[in-house]
Amino acid sequence: MKVLKFGGTSVGSAQRMKEVAKLITERGKNIIVLSAMSGTTNTLVEISDYLYKKNVDGAKETVNTLEAKYRRTIDELYATQDFKDKATKEIKACFNYIRSFTKDIFTLFEEKEILAQGELMSTALMTLYLQEQGVNAELIPALDFMRTDKNAEPDTQYIKQKLTALLDKHADAQLFITQGYICRNAYGEIDNLQRGGSDYTASLIGAAINADEIEIWTDIDGMHNNDPRYVSNTQPVDELHFEEAAELAYFGAKILHPTCVLPAKLNNIPVRLLNTMQPEAHGTLIYNSSASCMIKAVAAKDNITAIKIKSGRMLLAYGFLRKVFEIFETYQTPIDMIATSEVGVSVTIDNERNLSHILDDLKKFGTVTIDRDMVIICVVGDLEWQNRGFEARALDALRDIPVRMISYGGSNYNISFLVRKEDKVAALNALSDHLFNNQQ
Ligand code: ADP
Ligand code: ASP
Ligand code: MG
Repeated sequence: MKVLKFGGTSVGSAQRMKEVAKLITERGKNIIVLSAMSGTTNTLVEISDYLYKKNVDGAKETVNTLEAKYRRTIDELYATQDFKDKATKEIKACFNYIRSFTKDIFTLFEEKEILAQGELMSTALMTLYLQEQGVNAELIPALDFMRTDKNAEPDTQYIKQKLTALLDKHADAQLFITQGYICRNAYGEIDNLQRGGSDYTASLIGAAINADEIEIWTDIDGMHNNDPRYVSNTQPVDELHFEEAAELAYFGAKILHPTCVLPAKLNNIPVRLLNTMQPEAHGTLIYNSSASCMIKAVAAKDNITAIKIKSGRMLLAYGFLRKVFEIFETYQTPIDMIATSEVGVSVTIDNERNLSHILDDLKKFGTVTIDRDMVIICVVGDLEWQNRGFEARALDALRDIPVRMISYGGSNYNISFLVRKEDKVAALNALSDHLFNNQQ
């Protein structure tokens, strides 16, 4: 059995849903994970925002607009009045539930309940459509098996046990549908796996059932060698090692959520990135081996702050870095990149929530300077140190761009550069020209 996950654009309209229904019916007994229809989760965030701000009218208007969109989708999707009525009933219940939150206090807890409605609606619509087509599709509610523990980490034992029981219970089903993104936390409350987290759902399910493959179906034919939103002539990469895919996802390749790689990698389950609009395209295969001696792709991560701590006390001393890192640990702020010299260290963070406390504490150890609005540009491939020339080619591509930090040797798979936000697009394009398009 495989796990096939379809993102928001893949189920973004009645027409797209029909295409996905055809595609999954042709592929046999698999578990299908669906995101919310595109734009829905953003709108649910907007509704929650109005409710936090106690602007009930704003919330109601936005709910009404979204509901109207779903009603149009229902009209287009189903052929029979019977199924139009069934779908309308389901959708109406979700929207009335959302409306019920306009009356009372509004906290993170209520917001999570609202955010869950997008996936609940898309899966209800798809299951009904398949049933109208005569397909024996079983809806397996994610809220009945997807759970996180007290550390907000997936409770893999629970997931495996509950999911297996549900699949066994419906052994005669032709295929299974479930929601991406949503889960329950250790206290049984509705929660989620963070924005973009449907990819994570797919890979957790893949690991739980030891799937043959995890397929992430989206709106592009695989992982491209650069970000197609900023570079025009990008190409799909045929194969990636799990580690390469993890670096790319973490450093900004939006096609794959960073958390998705680990469960697949640990259980050695190949992940394939495929295009719903072009199902015959090869896409990208992510697994435990891949072509060597190649630079594969480039990605960029925005909103980075660089912090430099300079101190005479670092010279020939030990323990200095520990003290620096402990400060970041105290304020629960992960570090992305590091560069050291004998008299100083530069680190980057992508979360400024506790920056002022961090700076206050760091100043006890040395002179501190920060650079904001920076971008990490990550070059990924088989970059083992014995391979010659790859670092030089990447550096040469950036010869006209001021580079604040460079990090290499942390893994065999990447070299990262820190540049200013305003140089990001030029840097991505220069790297594509030099590394992939053979321009000097
Ligand atoms: P979904 O809604 O299916 O989860 P996403 O929007 O999360 O889809 O991811 C697909 C998008 O990721 C693409 O449309 C593309 O713009 C963006 N993207 C960013 N970097 C890359 C890359 N290196 N290769 C492919 N797509 C990328
Ligand atoms: N619907 C959620 C989001 O938009 C989860 C996902 O699509 O992966 O973030
Ligand atoms: Mg996504």
